[in-house]
Amino acid sequence: MNMRFNRELFSPQELKRMYGASAEAAERKAENDKEIRSVLDGSSDKLLLVIGPCSADREDSVIDYISRLRPLQEKVEDKIVIVPRIYTNKPRTTGAGYKGMLHQPDPIADPDLFKGLVSIRKLHLRALEETGFSCADEMLYPENHQFLSDLLSYVAVGARSVEDQQHRLVASGLDIPVGMKNPTGGDLSVMMNSINAAQHGHSFIYRNWDVSSKGNPYAHAILRGYVDSHGTSHPNYHYEDLRRLSDLYAAGGYANPAVIVDCNHSNSGKQYLEQGRIAKEVLHSARECATVRGLVKGLMIESYIEDGAQKSGEHRYGCSITDPCLGWEKTERLVLELAEAL
Ligand code: PEP
Ligand code: MN
Repeated sequence: MNMRFNRELFSPQELKRMYGASAEAAERKAENDKEIRSVLDGSSDKLLLVIGPCSADREDSVIDYISRLRPLQEKVEDKIVIVPRIYTNKPRTTGAGYKGMLHQPDPIADPDLFKGLVSIRKLHLRALEETGFSCADEMLYPENHQFLSDLLSYVAVGARSVEDQQHRLVASGLDIPVGMKNPTGGDLSVMMNSINAAQHGHSFIYRNWDVSSKGNPYAHAILRGYVDSHGTSHPNYHYEDLRRLSDLYAAGGYANPAVIVDCNHSNSGKQYLEQGRIAKEVLHSARECATVRGLVKGLMIESYIEDGAQKSGEHRYGCSITDPCLGWEKTERLVLELAEAL
């Protein structure tokens, strides 16, 4: 092996003991989980809004951003359930670039996995304790899920991971909703197979244990647009795409058919200002057709304090260092408009 074993890290149990959630925070997460599940199983007709920066780059601005979501959530609570994005590990298309707070707790310093692990736990814990939100993260490394399992209310399996067996098996053993993204190439059968795999029980090896899972009935689809063989982005949030997804669900015995539409990434071609228009179009499609209305359970929006994204070396507070995001004022206006439209 050409791998150097630098340092042994804490176990999830040790880290949870060191930075434990209070009984009140645990209760809050249980309430959030219940509300999110009720949207996905259709017992509530509220809309899930998974919203926040593309990547959580630093604790102060992420907590500032999520604290702003709290009063907004109170304003729209009869229509929308907000699940903030705190994405602490980032997949990279070519392997190069910022891999998230887990790798680089300080985005301008060298990677430090030990500090990174502590800082992502502290950030999610602080968000829950201070704002009452148990948040969403990408499950990029299924082995790491247990470090945050008592704090997260939602995970996504990203477009670059959705065909991976270990992601699917671990998703089948989680008791929170897992959103399976369509792969970057857009093949919906990969996403549907992933949902199917996650909804069934499996036996497998996890963190050096022989484990078995019961299946996760809250595994569902996320449409994020796709890139063709020429590198051109194409959307898959239109009415026809949603009807097609409904047909795919109808073909095969799934629990809780559901989709969350990701309004950025290849759906917007990373034209982040388009996210509002896309979100409204999805709600319009839902109003036009009961089948679509039954399927669309939520939206995902990339949003932060400042509009757009910064170049490396700019060090701008609250401005995305990965995908461009909608700034706070536009975000606030959009969320109120979406609540109005529901
Ligand atoms: C993201 O949500 O920032 C992301 C990386 O998404 P995807 O896996 O769809 O590219
Ligand atoms: Mn992104």
